[in-house]
Amino acid sequence: MSKTTHAKIVIIGSGPAGYTAAIYAARAMLAPVMIQGIQPGGQLTITTDVENYPGFADVIQGPWLMEQMEQQALHVGTRLVTDHVNMVDLGQRPFRITCDSGDVHKADSLVIATGAQARWLDLPSEQMFRGHGVSACATCDGFFYKGKDVIVIGGGNTAVEEALFLTNFASKVIVVHRRDAFRAERILQERLFRNPKIEVIWNSVLDDVLGSENPRKVIGAVIRHVKTSAVTEVPADGIFIAIGHSPASELFAGQVEMKPNGYIKTAPFSTATSVPGVFAAGDVTDDVYRQAVTAAGLGCMAALEAERFLAAQHVESVAAE
Ligand code: NAP
Repeated sequence: MSKTTHAKIVIIGSGPAGYTAAIYAARAMLAPVMIQGIQPGGQLTITTDVENYPGFADVIQGPWLMEQMEQQALHVGTRLVTDHVNMVDLGQRPFRITCDSGDVHKADSLVIATGAQARWLDLPSEQMFRGHGVSACATCDGFFYKGKDVIVIGGGNTAVEEALFLTNFASKVIVVHRRDAFRAERILQERLFRNPKIEVIWNSVLDDVLGSENPRKVIGAVIRHVKTSAVTEVPADGIFIAIGHSPASELFAGQVEMKPNGYIKTAPFSTATSVPGVFAAGDVTDDVYRQAVTAAGLGCMAALEAERFLAAQHVESVAAE
């Protein structure tokens, strides 16, 4: 049977922003409740090597880092809830957060840390072959391409990391990028250019996924040169789309102010949203840095700001009495 509970602070999302907010809120004795969502641990659980999270001299694994954060949040007193939020009502106080299980969480303050998800090109053929050779997660699906040829679309950190990771399995990795330079970090680019299994097709985009039915599978890609419009068919067994991420902010549409690109708007140097008592941290609000460590920093800010908000509310209610 579904139940309704009440907390001083609810955190939605369990990436570095959510866990850091939980750790700070728990240590402020606010007894935080964290609703973990469909992919507990967030994007870092589908990456492998992490080399840029400070505090670790050796390369660590993304899933391991998230397990540590979860343990730390639990250890200091966070209540973790394995559920997915399908509705929020920020128009009444306490705020109401409804989950797939039917449970309702009432909250005096809320931290939105729902992160971001991989973007797709939205080609009909891309949709048709998703899960049948088209993927947005090399870590999840790379293993299926042992000894095969794959294409990676994109030129950022994700695309370059995915291409490098795929060389562990594939015999050839072709990176298709729409410009003539990557935006990925220099160190990653150097690794990519040194790897004999990787080939780059510059100034080009994916126009279509070529595939066959029975069984449904990818057999290649139609690649278009953006300057000459020349079209080439490139044979491949798999296509990995790595063109960035969109914020997971739909739940809050019409309730908190958003930027035109869908990221949640916050006050300058703050995590405060347009609704007093609602704070946003991590990739759902940060369209500039989008790093695990900046997400963690924003999570810390959100918890400290929520703590101040709750203290001010308390002073007001005592004064009113
Ligand atoms: P990103 O940096 O936004 O890069 C997206 C790439 O996809 C860009 O090269 C972009 O091309 C290309 N692209 C976008 N839309 C496209 C389209 N419609 N057709 C073809 N190409 C398209 O995204 P990301 O690589 O996923 O990284 C997201 C954030 O996470 C970044 O801040 C990144 O630094 C961070 N990240 C960090 C690490 C790490 O530190 N180890 C790992 C992964 C991600 P243009 O270059 O032409 O814009």
